[in-house]
Amino acid sequence: MAKKEVAENKKLKIGWFSFSCCEDSTIVFTELLNDHFEEWSKVVDFQYVRVLRKKNKLEGLDVAFVEGAIASDREKKELLEIRKNCKKLVAIGSCACTGGPSAQRNMFSKELEKEIEFLLRKFHQSDKVHKLEDLVRVDAKVPGCPMNEEKFLEVLNKMLVEFGIGK
Ligand code: SF4
Repeated sequence: MAKKEVAENKKLKIGWFSFSCCEDSTIVFTELLNDHFEEWSKVVDFQYVRVLRKKNKLEGLDVAFVEGAIASDREKKELLEIRKNCKKLVAIGSCACTGGPSAQRNMFSKELEKEIEFLLRKFHQSDKVHKLEDLVRVDAKVPGCPMNEEKFLEVLNKMLVEFGIGK
């Protein structure tokens, strides 16, 4: 196959991941897919998107979109694994960008902290909830609760350009 054809057929390999959160940005994303799927499927490879497919591959992602805050060691481990397997990582929604509202227990009083301690142990939760940037490098952010659609489209288009795909 000629070099030019390879470049033309190149797609942005993306992943979509959810941690501790209500997953409303995933709903916004699926709604956007209703409108943009045809156009995006020409330039985007939905390599790891559980709402779309059963078999997902983590290795070799171009961009990982990550929503939610990190509330346990297991989630931290998974996030580090995602970071290792993607070139760019985008924080999706307020919980991923700032920790809150998912991280509201970080602000609990000492008494309240004591009251919920058994739950944290029972469900293997960490003492504090973290925004993504506390644990890994974040290359771009899409704030909002749920995520701001225009900003998401802007970041996705920017990534397509950065990776030399599309316009
Ligand atoms: S930012 Fe808002 S919409 Fe997104 S996971 Fe957190 S609470 Fe839910």
